[in-house]
Amino acid sequence: MDQEKRQGLLSVVLPSYNEEPSIPRAAEAVSALLAQAGIRHELLFVDDGSRDGTWAAVQAQAARMPQVRGVRFSRNFGKEAAIFAGLAQARGDCAAVMDCDLQHPPEKVVEMYRLWQEGYQVVEGVKVGRGRENPLHTLAARTFYSAISGAMGVDMSKASDFKLLDRRAVDTLLAMREKNAFFRALSSWIGFSTAQVEFEVQPRLEGQSKWSVRSLVRYAVTNIAAFSAAPLQIVTLLGAVVFLCSVALGLWSLWQKFTGQALEGFTTVILLQLFIGSILMVCLGIIGYYIGKIYEELKDRPRYILAEQCEGEKEHGQAEKTL
Ligand code: UDP
Ligand code: MG
Repeated sequence: MDQEKRQGLLSVVLPSYNEEPSIPRAAEAVSALLAQAGIRHELLFVDDGSRDGTWAAVQAQAARMPQVRGVRFSRNFGKEAAIFAGLAQARGDCAAVMDCDLQHPPEKVVEMYRLWQEGYQVVEGVKVGRGRENPLHTLAARTFYSAISGAMGVDMSKASDFKLLDRRAVDTLLAMREKNAFFRALSSWIGFSTAQVEFEVQPRLEGQSKWSVRSLVRYAVTNIAAFSAAPLQIVTLLGAVVFLCSVALGLWSLWQKFTGQALEGFTTVILLQLFIGSILMVCLGIIGYYIGKIYEELKDRPRYILAEQCEGEKEHGQAEKTL
């Protein structure tokens, strides 16, 4: 079995959204490195409903390279969906996920694969630097990670989507039915024997990051809610705090009444009304958000919809040729 594992096919999943110029570059770079290292591989581009020529670039690349495959979404479903689609399509004994803008250094995939050969089932890429980013982005990312780390009880600040997973781990992830899956957290949550590989985030060569601050906030809220019911406990906590305040204020009001100075305090009444009113609204909002999520899961819609697929022409024994 060990022997078999050493020869295992590696699927590299590359989610791509408006990455036309990066496609050929990523395909050539990753494939060359893996071939050089003697790793049998396939490259799986998932076009996440791009609006530029990404799909044409994937098709062109598949025509040129037999190890390239591609699937295309009917519209943009987001990176998480693209990762899961790629994993679902992967035929390998293990699968790596990496950004196709080459911000995840491809040579690390070789290192991850070697660890997999040693028997690790989940190999996580751990960021040692965040590359060049604007400060607002860094701040937003930092806030998000401290929130999600708190919610999960695991330090996520250095986690990334750059991972290599054994077939067992891939199948475990795919068997999870939740629609709001958060790949980088779930792949740690499933456990298995885990190794880490440190990498430096590379500067982006082409185009721009697809994340606006708005999309980051949405991403943060969705994933925290997907992973934790802690915000619901905030409701209880707020209730307890307001109750304590009302006991104190109640005693104070009674004391004022019995000492005959009760007429004052109209401002207090207004302030209290506003205060309690807004806390109730916030709490209803939090509860409503979770009900919305339950509704979404209940509808059981697919995570993504495939529109097209393409596959490199495979001559007989071609896959072995890349060895
Ligand atoms: N991506 C995607 N769907 C999206 C947004 C991004 O598949 O809706 C892909 C993108 O093409 C890239 C990866 O996810 O390969 C990371 O995106 P990006 O480089 O924009 O994010 P950053 O590196 O700044 O975190
Ligand atoms: Mg990037």
